[in-house]
Amino acid sequence: MRVDAVFTGGNVLTLDPARPRATALAVLGGRIVAVGDDSDLEGLTADRYVALGGATVVPGFHDAHNHCVFFGMSLAELPLSTPPVQSLADIYEAVARAARTTAPGGWIVGAGYDQNRLAERRHPTAAELDRVAPGHRVWLRHTSGHMAVVNGAVLDAIGIDAVAVPPGGVVERDAGGRPTGLLQESAQSLVRNLVYPYPLTDIVGAIDRATTRYLSEGITSAQEAGIGAGLVAWSPQELAAYAQARATGKLHVRTTLMVAADALHELGGSPDDSGSFGLDLGIATGLGDEWLRIGPVKIFSDGSLLGRTAAMHQPFADEPGNAGYLQHSPEQLRELIVRAHRGGWQIATHAIGDLAVDTVLDCYEEALRQLPRADHRHRIEHCAVADDAAVERIARLGVIPVPQGRFISELGDGMATALGPQRAPWCYRQKSFLDRGIPLPGSSDRPVVQGAPLLGIADAVLQRTATGADFNPQEALTPLQALHAWTMGSAYATFEEHRRGSLVAGKLADFAVLSDDLTTVDPEQIASIQVRATVIGGEVVYEA
Ligand SMILES: [Zn+2]
Repeated sequence: MRVDAVFTGGNVLTLDPARPRATALAVLGGRIVAVGDDSDLEGLTADRYVALGGATVVPGFHDAHNHCVFFGMSLAELPLSTPPVQSLADIYEAVARAARTTAPGGWIVGAGYDQNRLAERRHPTAAELDRVAPGHRVWLRHTSGHMAVVNGAVLDAIGIDAVAVPPGGVVERDAGGRPTGLLQESAQSLVRNLVYPYPLTDIVGAIDRATTRYLSEGITSAQEAGIGAGLVAWSPQELAAYAQARATGKLHVRTTLMVAADALHELGGSPDDSGSFGLDLGIATGLGDEWLRIGPVKIFSDGSLLGRTAAMHQPFADEPGNAGYLQHSPEQLRELIVRAHRGGWQIATHAIGDLAVDTVLDCYEEALRQLPRADHRHRIEHCAVADDAAVERIARLGVIPVPQGRFISELGDGMATALGPQRAPWCYRQKSFLDRGIPLPGSSDRPVVQGAPLLGIADAVLQRTATGADFNPQEALTPLQALHAWTMGSAYATFEEHRRGSLVAGKLADFAVLSDDLTTVDPEQIASIQVRATVIGGEVVYEA
């Protein structure tokens, strides 16, 4: 038999229970056609022979929840993440520097600051930004994506004292009633409206920058957590940007697109249909091919723990008067979820607080009661705070939680403060999910935190915060469980386990070549394993 390529001499972790380890792979037409020991594949004639030299091969990493365009845009903006940024002074210095090279009246956009990790433990303010960048428009996005700070010029352009604040949003004001510059949740649309929609060429550029980075981290598939409408959108034509990126060779990883719920509408189908809530022409979950597909509809139910906007049953430990809030009433959320379910969509609802998680489970239960669907795979994105009863319901309803291991190290100290000791054990239950037989994908929510999969895997294994504190060690995964999440688990979360996620004959030849075996090295070393090469469809698309 003639094949395109044979890879030999590797330490291949197949994630196939029938044959967990192999040394060689053969590829034909972009798919794996044989997996075995070198001697098993000796009879094959190949156009290319690649010696792996003992390197470890794993299925390509698959990020089940990331914001690719957001990340790609942020790569062209002022980086304000901690580290290296340590203080407000660092932020103001970066803005002042940008002001010197930005035309008067122009935008200075920064991304990634986190007030919890700044020396001053507070947000920048409009007044202070006006002092360092007079005559410019300044827009600094929080690392969570759930809030932003703007300066006075932007507040003026918005007409902040006359404008209606969108439902679910907050324009923070000081004791004297003046806006501080902090815009929370949907109030961010006030500044976005000044620049939105972005040109498709800008979005294509962002996709190119982001997915080029992904290849260097061993990522071969990613799920974009919301396009087309609402706060996560860059243009109502974002699908066109992805299609253009693909057509011009700038979409470097296989991508599944979640569609923001605000983009869905009644289509006017027959009363005999179960529902007709969707995108024009009835485009819904599953349309597309192995490079670019429509995934779930993305719904937001609440905010974030660090922003204290997650919807909790009881107030935050450090803010006794504040239990966060739901972005829709439970009735509105139920109607939205039931309509999307009846329209045939897989649903991915963002829920962080325990009240939000319980409310979303109520909605899924009601949708499934009205219209049972055996293999719905409805998801809860983040699913950050879930008590034991919620874990049981997730198992019973067949819901897929989509947690982020990296949150534990980068945000864990702040999450523990927000929750307090009694509720902290309910935070990020990945081991409990697996123990209950619940499918577990791997994801980053990049650019909220760093997105390299090996970092997320290390954090899910080590369960340790940035300050070195243990964070729910009882929820630690084994390296193999974490690897399974980032490959098979993510594939399952988007109905793709039949063609990706493990290295078996018939599946896509997507894999990463690593310097070490993450399942046998000291767990402390996992984060420093190098990605030596990334292969998609049998082609080497990245080499260190
Ligand atoms: Zn997200």
